[in-house]
Parts: sequence; C-alpha cells; structure tokens
Amino acid sequence: MSVLKEMFENLTHKPATILYPKEKVPIPPAFRGRIAIRDEKCIGCSKCAVVCPTQCITMVANERPVEVKGKTITRKKKPEVELFACIRCGLCEEYCPTDPKAIYLTNEFSGAGTDKGVVVK
Ligand code: SF4
Ligand code: SF4
Repeated sequence: MSVLKEMFENLTHKPATILYPKEKVPIPPAFRGRIAIRDEKCIGCSKCAVVCPTQCITMVANERPVEVKGKTITRKKKPEVELFACIRCGLCEEYCPTDPKAIYLTNEFSGAGTDKGVVVK
C-alpha cells in the first residue's frame, strides 16, 4: 500500500487512541485497580499483612474497640499499604475476614508518581 493511500485512509478513520484521562477507558468487571482500605471495618487481625507476597502491608499501632462475632474486643493495629509496591494480586482481599472487605482492590488506576512512599491508610 502506498504511503499516500494509507494517509488518506487514516484521515477518514476515527483515531485508534483516546484522550485519557479526559476520556475514560471501559473497565472490565474483574479489573484489579488501586488498593483501598475501609478502616471502619478492619478488626486488626493482620491476615492481609501475612499473605501479602510483596510485604507492602505494614500493621501500625491503632487501638479502638471492634465487634468480632458479637463480642467487643480492642483492635491493636491497622494496615497501611505502600501503594507502588502493591502488585494487585488480591490475596489480602481474599483472606480479609470482614464483610464487606476491609481491604480491597478498586477499579481505579493506581496512577504514577515520583514519590515511592505513597501510603494507603
Ligand atoms: S493486592 Fe497488593 S496489598 Fe494486597 S496482597 Fe497483593 S500485593 Fe499485597
Ligand atoms: S484489613 Fe482485613 S485482613 Fe487486614 S487486618 Fe484488617 S480485618 Fe484483618
């Protein structure tokens, strides 16, 4: 195909690219996006930190009363996640015992940044 022919064909077609982030791309249902935490649901069991393959979850001191199986206990810790060390495997969400999950993957993109220390609390 000659270059001129290809040029004219491309002029009549819609662009193959989109103007992200102005235009949003369709996100499939099983998409694994940015990690998030529902702190109000977290009972501080540390299961998420134990199963995380990249060890990007740190349990930090945070005391408050929580309900577990009808009993009130004192939660001692809560998770914090190093955003850019998370590989979005979903294991933390799978093993988190709460309903709804206290730690979970959203359908948001993680974005990019120069600060490696971004922490999700
Ligand atoms: S999704 Fe991220 S935070 Fe959760 S277990 Fe996997 S790597 Fe760790
Ligand atoms: S987020 Fe879930 S798995 Fe992690 S400490 Fe809280 S309750 Fe346990």
